[in-house]
Amino acid sequence: MTKHADHYNRNLACPACGKKSRFKIWDRIYTDKVPELKDQVRDLSLFHFVCPACGQETYLDYDFLYVQNDVRLVIYYAPGGGDISAMHESLQKPEYAFMQSYQYRLIRTRARLLETLAIFDAALDDRVLEIMKVMLRSWLAAQAEPIHADLVEFTFAGGKKAFHFADTQKGNSGILPFEGGVEQTYKALAQDLEPLLAKEETLTFDQAWAVSFVQQHQDLFA
Ligand SMILES: [Zn+2]
Repeated sequence: MTKHADHYNRNLACPACGKKSRFKIWDRIYTDKVPELKDQVRDLSLFHFVCPACGQETYLDYDFLYVQNDVRLVIYYAPGGGDISAMHESLQKPEYAFMQSYQYRLIRTRARLLETLAIFDAALDDRVLEIMKVMLRSWLAAQAEPIHADLVEFTFAGGKKAFHFADTQKGNSGILPFEGGVEQTYKALAQDLEPLLAKEETLTFDQAWAVSFVQQHQDLFA
């Protein structure tokens, strides 16, 4: 790691009263260096700004790099749509050789960030889960009473793994526990897809990526 301050103070104007106060912005989050950050990212307390003048509460959303060594994960979090290619290039330099086996992810939304962290916490592969979501959507849509899920999300809370799905327009929702046949499907897929996923060079494994992946490998999903 190069010598670099991981955080800095920013003068923030309160959205309610306009009074300025200092807030600590972490633009480099290395959970090995500052272990408490691991939970503070997940419960969002790291981004929670409380105005000392009027008490207004706000959650800040800003770009940061997140590195968690125990699961070999690097996340570029850039909610504003910023370009992270220069940072990604810089991490490919020889001094970061130990990070070459890490998984790199570019994430644009807070919901996606929390879901990705939950998946790594559950020791699962987010790429395989994204492909399972495509299969789950198809399966739900093929039911006698079809559900057109526009939301499918993996959750890991209280040691319980599950897919939550919803047709937010109709207000239908449901939960598919990640156990039994679902877990078997995951294990089989993870094994079958491993050589293919190893070749993927993108940093974004989202729904569009998964739909395209399934289309390109129809033989595997017949
Ligand atoms: Zn205020």
